[in-house]
Amino acid sequence: MVKRFYVDQYVDQILAGNRVVLSRAITLVESKLPADQELAQQVINRLLPYSGNSIRIGITGAPGVGKSTFIEALGNYLILKEQKKLAVLAIDPTSQRTGGSILGDKTRMPVLATQLQAYIRPSPAGNSLGGVACYTRESILLCEAAGFEVIFVETVGVGQSETAVHSLTDFFLLLLLAGAGDELQGLKKGIMEMADALIITKADGSNLEKARVARAEYINALHLFPVPPSGWQVPVQLSSALENTGISEVWKSIQEYAQKMQKSKYWQEKRNQQHLYWFRETIRQTLEEKFFAHPEVAKHIKEKEQQVISGQLSAFAAAQELLNLAYK
Ligand code: GDP
Repeated sequence: MVKRFYVDQYVDQILAGNRVVLSRAITLVESKLPADQELAQQVINRLLPYSGNSIRIGITGAPGVGKSTFIEALGNYLILKEQKKLAVLAIDPTSQRTGGSILGDKTRMPVLATQLQAYIRPSPAGNSLGGVACYTRESILLCEAAGFEVIFVETVGVGQSETAVHSLTDFFLLLLLAGAGDELQGLKKGIMEMADALIITKADGSNLEKARVARAEYINALHLFPVPPSGWQVPVQLSSALENTGISEVWKSIQEYAQKMQKSKYWQEKRNQQHLYWFRETIRQTLEEKFFAHPEVAKHIKEKEQQVISGQLSAFAAAQELLNLAYK
């Protein structure tokens, strides 16, 4: 049971950068209790004018590609060299299945976790990817109000959560292993198309040459894609988190992107599109939940499914009958 404060207390303490209260507010956001949800919405509404001032960076890649090591290296660089305040959030669609959280885990980023300028929040266990992404969206706003200037949203590259992360962030980093093959990395064409930078990880030791070859191949592959609406040319960069090479270059690319896109207004345009996406997505999710919770639907859904399977009813007709039960 979460101890609740008053709205004013949340707002004042979060604006003052109080991490304990920030954590409690995120817990409210993730709670399924209607009272917590209502309080969370009030807090978020009050903090909305103070949000939006960060660079939101999505980071994805197959398990083992080196995400946590990379986040640790880039994160420490940002804090120590660029004096930034950094929050690391995670979207982990697998955590609902295992009940545990894999991403955004403090033990995976041991140095970063001890930094006062860093805030690491593990992935919430949610019902659906959409639900988890929605919490993360609200957590981003809270972190921004608490003064975090750079936000990482990490996800595991398994092909479904990328779209959600893409719709939450300004810049999307795709981490790749040299020589692993696209299939092994769970890479779908769509994910490459979403990326704002490709990073070949573990470019060190005997792997360096392979990484250079991979870089050339990915540059060629990118030529086959249409120019993105932003006009941005996607860089393909090498990095070694172990040897700390290529890390500051990644940050340079992100900054260059931010400057160019803010100038061209694409930055705000993309965020506006994201707001609309989440507005519609929330309506869609709420309607869906309400529909399946409707007593008549719950009562008849199995029977309709059977009728569809046995060929008694077409999928369309069965769906229509259920919808009529709920919306008459
Ligand atoms: P994640 O599953 O994507 O988060 O990957 P991890 O960050 O846990 O890294 C997976 C493995 O790759 C670990 O054994 C790391 O030590 C290793 N690794 C990560 N980054 C590098 C790197 O830059 N160079 C080398 N040689 N190994 C790395």
